[in-house]
Amino acid sequence: MAEPATGGRVAPPAREDLRRQLFIDGDFVDAADGAAIDVLSPHDNGLITRIAEAGAADVDRAVAAAGRAFPAWSAMAAADRGRLLLKLADAIEANAERLARLESFDTGHPIRDSRFLDVPRTAACFRYFGGMADKHQGTVVPVEAGFLNYVDRAPLGVVGQIVPWNFPLMFTSWKMGPALAAGNTVVLKPSEITPLSTLAIAELMAEVGFPRGVVNIVPGYGHTAGQRLAEHPDVAKIAFTGSTATGRRIVAASQGNLKRVQLELGGKGANIVFADADIGAAVNGAAWAIFHNQGQACIAGSRLILHRSIAAEFLDRFIALARSIRVGDPLDPATEMGPLTSTLHRDRVMAYVRTAVEQGGDILAGGMAPPDPALAAGCYVLPTVVRAKPSDRVAQEEVFGPFVTVLTFETDDEALAIANGTDYGLGSGLWTRDLARAHRMARGIRAGMCWINCYKRVNPGSPFGGVGQSGYGREMGFEAMRDYTEARSVWVNVDAQIPPFYRR
Ligand code: NDP
Repeated sequence: MAEPATGGRVAPPAREDLRRQLFIDGDFVDAADGAAIDVLSPHDNGLITRIAEAGAADVDRAVAAAGRAFPAWSAMAAADRGRLLLKLADAIEANAERLARLESFDTGHPIRDSRFLDVPRTAACFRYFGGMADKHQGTVVPVEAGFLNYVDRAPLGVVGQIVPWNFPLMFTSWKMGPALAAGNTVVLKPSEITPLSTLAIAELMAEVGFPRGVVNIVPGYGHTAGQRLAEHPDVAKIAFTGSTATGRRIVAASQGNLKRVQLELGGKGANIVFADADIGAAVNGAAWAIFHNQGQACIAGSRLILHRSIAAEFLDRFIALARSIRVGDPLDPATEMGPLTSTLHRDRVMAYVRTAVEQGGDILAGGMAPPDPALAAGCYVLPTVVRAKPSDRVAQEEVFGPFVTVLTFETDDEALAIANGTDYGLGSGLWTRDLARAHRMARGIRAGMCWINCYKRVNPGSPFGGVGQSGYGREMGFEAMRDYTEARSVWVNVDAQIPPFYRR
């Protein structure tokens, strides 16, 4: 790990290290109309750089390049595709410190998170799917005598992928890993707010030898570049991570060519603490569940549902922990919570603080920017704890910030009703020492993922996705490989005596 530069703060990435153009057909290029977007630091809203802004014409160029690359890439031996992904994973590790600084500078993730979570998880995901490339086998179906029927998994073609601003580096690997391993080519739109780490990955891909056009990166605005990608007639699948409202627009835009859609949308994670829980572990886990990445995570444990008998003790300890979290400059290795990723988003989160108060909620901690003048120009919000009613907006809507809504329950059935009482169904957590209760509740919670006595565990082998308004389809694991392929059934007449169909 590099030494801190000055005053504990690590140096930001060198300006000449930043890629600022679109990546199309193996080259970094300007937008066709020369448009560009400012990329701002969430720490102080200073200008980091200006990057090329992809418009519809650039998306068309990228889709055409991916289309030209598809026949050779999909015909390449799966092991060779896998080897390139493995080389990419090695290159990410070799550039780990540079990527970590880039991610922290651009998104506001504390550097310790970027170093120990984002970058290693990105490399692990590409490595997992590199290994998977030649292991995702088809099947032979035991059909009637005289025939052989086998089913292989064919890649879909050009896939469009839209990645949001909360985990740009990691989500790039979650989206690209399975798509490329399965033999698809990719056009990926990172958020215009946080494009830098994705562009750095494109550069590494070129260096390790990915053929031209296999991957194309088009940072741009959602309503222009994103919309064009979602409606493009030559795109076979669109994979989207973002809000439920935009997810609906993606579905509408996909209708023209009936492309496949995979949606990883919002969440309102229920994190239930039972009376028999290990309170110390639950306090720590619940804080991690909501405050990691400033709460900007679809799986965040944003509803803390406490058994009434332990609520007072739990809250005392939880609030003390929340107040002790070191909020500050993401490039300072001591920082435990950084700024939100944009001013717009900070304002959205602060608006929810006002909504909570208007609806009678109690702000138990935070609810404001930190008093430190050194942070005044940035997008900071203190860890915020709010007691509310299950029907309040802050208990129903995704705040997507360091903002946890506290609710209480008496019986297991009541806990389950509260947990299942939103339109979302993505992450959920349970803290109990009672094994039978844990399994019973895990079965009862309507969510794509449930963590028992832990929270927010992810692994490239374990399917990730939601139900209800949290979307459909799964990332990671065999599920993701299936979602990026089409079953193709082949029948062979081996030795069957077929009676003539027409009797002549
Ligand atoms: P959006 O859903 O609007 O944006 C997510 C991504 O989709 C961005 O890259 C965005 O581009 C793109 N996009 C926007 N409109 C379109 C469109 N019509 N067609 C294709 N792509 C589009 O989320 P916001 O950034 O506005 O955040 C709002 C809320 O969404 C958050 O408060 C949070 O609740 C939720 N969210 C959930 C995420 C998750 O991990 N599931 C991630 C991000 C947000 P652009 O940035 O240019 O608009």
